[in-house]
Amino acid sequence: MEYAKILEEIQQDLLDFPAIGKVTTTIPELATINPDKFGIHLTTINSIDYGIGDSEEKFSIQSISKALTVALAFSFLDENIWKRVGVEPSGTAFNSLIQLEYEKGIPRNPFINSGAIVIADMLVSCLKNPKEDFLTFIRMISGSASIDYNYAVAQSEKDTRFRNAALANFLKSFGNIENDVDEVLDFYFHQCSIEMTCQELAHSFFFFANEGKTKDGKQILTRSQVKRLNALMQTCGFYDESGEFTYKVGLPGKSGIGGGIVALYPNVFVVATWSPKLNKKGNSELGMHALEALTTKTGMSVF
Ligand code: GLU
Repeated sequence: MEYAKILEEIQQDLLDFPAIGKVTTTIPELATINPDKFGIHLTTINSIDYGIGDSEEKFSIQSISKALTVALAFSFLDENIWKRVGVEPSGTAFNSLIQLEYEKGIPRNPFINSGAIVIADMLVSCLKNPKEDFLTFIRMISGSASIDYNYAVAQSEKDTRFRNAALANFLKSFGNIENDVDEVLDFYFHQCSIEMTCQELAHSFFFFANEGKTKDGKQILTRSQVKRLNALMQTCGFYDESGEFTYKVGLPGKSGIGGGIVALYPNVFVVATWSPKLNKKGNSELGMHALEALTTKTGMSVF
């Protein structure tokens, strides 16, 4: 497959795409990003790398981190995690409170904020030094020692934490948070503040495409466990636009309000895009368009 040529074609096509989306405003520190950035990086299952545009520039991975925290929690607790978080699409916004009351404090899935906060609570319980240990895990799976938290972004999110604090306190009232709410939120804000390039993101998600093994052969999850998490990314990875992403792109993946998207075709490739302009549902407008073009041009989607 001529990936280099296809990525160039996609980048060229995007010049004509009328992107009307807006950079996120929910985290003040992220509102200053140059909206015109665009990068894409594809890593094949044989570890061949193809990058284009701003693919080597770091950006805030935000909710993409939710797929990595759930993978780590799954590695410790296996199926027990589903006693506290569901596996159903929510059909509501990423930071919605509404279903929690009806469902007695059990979030619909680990990719909406309430679900990710419960997963963060599990990691605060399982890890000795939660923030340090999580960073060590990320550096290990990505093979990149330069990955770090952006402390200013974490602080900015803490300063404007009201909705996430409401979610965490509501979960605590149902008994679905074991640790101190502020400690769990602090971990959650830091995981969201992690910065990666498109290349680092593609490498970090390699194990999801490679039957649970990282690029350098470390087994993170079993084949069956990554099959399950890929299924969850397919059905729940794009907030209340997961159906649309499946319809147009046809790959499991995860987005974040920093403008990143990572998607994968099991046993074939992992691809990461970054463009900060978001559509109304909070997904990167150009990123979705680029991935739709990728699966159309290559004919490679899981469907
Ligand atoms: N840190 C963001 C929040 O909790 C993540 C949102 C996202 O990327 O969807 O609001």
